[in-house]
Amino acid sequence: MLLAFLTIMFSCRPSGSSADVEDQAIPLESAITEAPPKPIWEGMGFDLNYLMGKFNPAQDSNFVKIPSQYANNNRSYMRKEAYRDFVRMAEAAQKDDIKLVIVSAARNFSAQKAIWEAKWDGRRAVNGANLSHTVSDPVQRALKILEYSSMPSTSRHHWGTDIDINSVNGNYFESGTGKKVYEWLASNAHKYGYCQIYSPKGADRPHGYNEEKWHWSYLPIARPLTAFARDNLKNSLISGFKGSETAVEIGVVEKYVLGINPTCF
Ligand SMILES: [Zn+2]
Repeated sequence: MLLAFLTIMFSCRPSGSSADVEDQAIPLESAITEAPPKPIWEGMGFDLNYLMGKFNPAQDSNFVKIPSQYANNNRSYMRKEAYRDFVRMAEAAQKDDIKLVIVSAARNFSAQKAIWEAKWDGRRAVNGANLSHTVSDPVQRALKILEYSSMPSTSRHHWGTDIDINSVNGNYFESGTGKKVYEWLASNAHKYGYCQIYSPKGADRPHGYNEEKWHWSYLPIARPLTAFARDNLKNSLISGFKGSETAVEIGVVEKYVLGINPTCF
């Protein structure tokens, strides 16, 4: 009787058990329906107006006015998180007799436009030259300004994550106090989220601005913003100032916005 029952049971079983079928089906199904990885900027509240500096930091709740203790003026703003960790960094530096002062922080589109157009028009000299007299070709003139200054819409200073520390004169960092300041930052800034975004030009950074030992970027926010720029900022969107028509030919987004220290990505 038992033998007959077992015989019926096994003969009714379909070839290949249901468990085998499921084992094969789960990975196949998940491979088809699995969503692509989310970009690191998703959910951070970024939009193109913010990225391109078309807002007022003084009226943005993500920004804080930097107290005069930490800035060389009383009208600078930066992202709150970047400020919080700058203070931690400045306090640590103080213990090593290093004084850190922010000489430039958030600059919106109109502030950057003022800098750019002053150089474009020759009201502000570039390497001692009036570019409106010495460089007539628009692309060549833009490239000259781009050695150190960003086109409006493409500056990391728009973001409030990037600051210039102590001086924007490269000579300051080559000897004495400035050299000590730079060496301290190079050894310690990463502990507070800061990275020297414009490292020396070379094989690993062939494009972009010249080296800036003063410009430090707060990566917890600037890294996803860089990815947001890579995915959303187009050269054709750059407009509204003298010489903006050169952005497409130069490839400003690829060469300058993304032409950064690879260890800061
Ligand atoms: Zn800077």
